[in-house]
Parts: sequence; structure tokens; C-alpha cells
Amino acid sequence: MSVRIARTRSELFQLMREIRSESRDLRNTPSVGFVPTMGALHRGHASLIEHSVRENSTTVVSVFVNPKQFGPKEDLSKYPRTFEQDLETCERSGAQILFAPSVDEVYPDGFKTTVAVSEMDGVLCGAFRPGHFDGVCTVVLLLLNLVRADKAYLGMKDFQQFTILQRMVEDLAHPTQLIPVPTVRDLDGLALSSRNKFLDSSARQTARTIPEALKLAARMFIQGERNRETLLGRAVSHLSNIEGLELQYCELVKAKDLTICNDVLESDSVLAVAAFVTGADGIRTRLIDNVLLSEEPRFSFDLNNFAAKTFVEG
Ligand code: AMP
Repeated sequence: MSVRIARTRSELFQLMREIRSESRDLRNTPSVGFVPTMGALHRGHASLIEHSVRENSTTVVSVFVNPKQFGPKEDLSKYPRTFEQDLETCERSGAQILFAPSVDEVYPDGFKTTVAVSEMDGVLCGAFRPGHFDGVCTVVLLLLNLVRADKAYLGMKDFQQFTILQRMVEDLAHPTQLIPVPTVRDLDGLALSSRNKFLDSSARQTARTIPEALKLAARMFIQGERNRETLLGRAVSHLSNIEGLELQYCELVKAKDLTICNDVLESDSVLAVAAFVTGADGIRTRLIDNVLLSEEPRFSFDLNNFAAKTFVEG
């Protein structure tokens, strides 16, 4: 069955109604999975869609480049837009509905609400991108309310985003369950990202040092190292003095609430990196990545695939 496209809220509601009544006719228990994205879909997004398709009778993907989560000096106008390819990816991955609204459809005239999760946005990306997570929370809550999915699938590549959104749905008793999906990487270890399109071959070489640094620290963790400074030092030293790489942060936070880890790691922790990579063409691209440092993830959800051991060995 081909993907049906909704451009407006009312088209989305109409398609959802049709799909619900079709599943009733088939006497299935209908369930809806939702994958929010900003488009320029790659295998990482496809993995989220495939997870949803496996677990639900209907999968809705949204493609919306959300202006509210870009700062004034960020790359909103340059953000890649590849609608026809995105449609094909949705088709190939088995989604039923592609919701691709305009900015005015999402934020109609008079829109005044901002959703903010306090404190958790004061570290990592949030510390460098003021207002970014307010923009993310606002659009995701709105999309969750429009789609009314049973489950929404989010990538662990954006660990801070997942943790903040998880807090938001818990705090606001939202009925959609958030499902974390492990980061999909290229063969050289680089986490897939829509922004990888901006990397020329020299930037690509440079970018590889990010997963390498995470891997080196993760390996030390697996071998028993628990000292925060030692683990951070290993990652930071690998990322120092590399031409074309400017480290924005390298930090260790507690996975459950994103507070900075103590001197000795005692709970599931996330080592997270953000860096600007500049190629021979002068294009500067911001990349993020992370690894979960955990012997046995004590999450309520299954993060085993995402943990240090799999990353190092995989
Ligand atoms: P974006 O389009 O970048 O806003 O991402 C949409 C969703 O895809 C978010 O939940 C991301 O965490 C997820 N995602 C992005 N890159 C990857 C990746 N390499 N592996 C898995 N999920 C990803």
C-alpha cells in the first residue's frame, strides 16, 4: 500500500479516521506508531520507522523542519529538504501516513504557547542552544496531540532530547509511550545524521574521530574505569589538536536526569560530545554523538543495543 500524504491537520485526522475504520473492519486491534522527524531521512530514521511498523498496525511519520528549535544564527534556511526521497524512504520502510505540514499549519496565527522542561536543558546541547529544547518540546507535544499515537519512536543519538521528552510526557501524563531506538552508524562509526550531507571528504575523516573518542572511553569503562576525569580525559585527548575539529563539549551525565556525574561514576551514565567540523570547502557542521556507559542498563526500556559493550564490539 502506498503512503498517504497529509499536509494539514484536517487531512491527517481524515486519514487516521479512515485507517481506524479499515482496521476495525479487519477486526485487528489497531495501534498507531509515530516517528517525528525533520526530514532528509536516512537509515537512522528508517530504523525508527521499521521499529514502529513491526510494533503497530499503522505508522505515521512527520516531516517538519521546526523553526522554533533553531537559534537565530543556526542553519534553518540551509537545513536539507528532500521531500521526494523522504516519501520513498517512508514507502520502503512500510509507513502508511506521511504528515508534512507547513509552518503556518503547525503554528497558526495567534499561536502563543511554549512547552519547557526546566533544568534538564541547562547542560550539553541545551547550554549552547538557548531555547532549542523549548522548541523541541513545543512541537513534539503538539505533534503527539495531533497524531494521538500509542507509541512514538525516538533516536538515542539525541539522548538529551529523548530524556527531556520522556520527562515531559511523564510530567504531563501524556498517553503516548516514548520508545528509544539505538543509534544507527555508518561503517566508519559515524552516527548517521541529516547534517552529514554537508561533510566533504576531509570533514568526514575528521568527523570519524568523534565515535573513535567515545569508543576509547567506553572501552576503558568496560575494563573497569569509573573515574570521571580519566574517562573524560581519554575522550577529550583524542579530540584535541585535530585540524578542522572544534570541540563544543564533552561531558558525562547521569542517564536518568542529565545531572553531571560525580567523580566516581555510580549509575548509568552517558558520555556525550558535540563538535564543529570544518572541511576543505570551509563548511562548518555541528555534530553530536554519545554512548551509554552502563554494565547492565537499569532503564525501564531496553537499551542493551545502545550500551557501551555493543558499541565497542559492534
Ligand atoms: P531529526 O530528523 O534529526 O530531527 O531526527 C528525527 C529522529 O530521528 C530523532 O528521534 C532522532 O534521534 C532520530 N535519529 C537521527 N539520527 C539517527 C541515527 N543515526 N540513528 C537513530 N535515530 C536517529
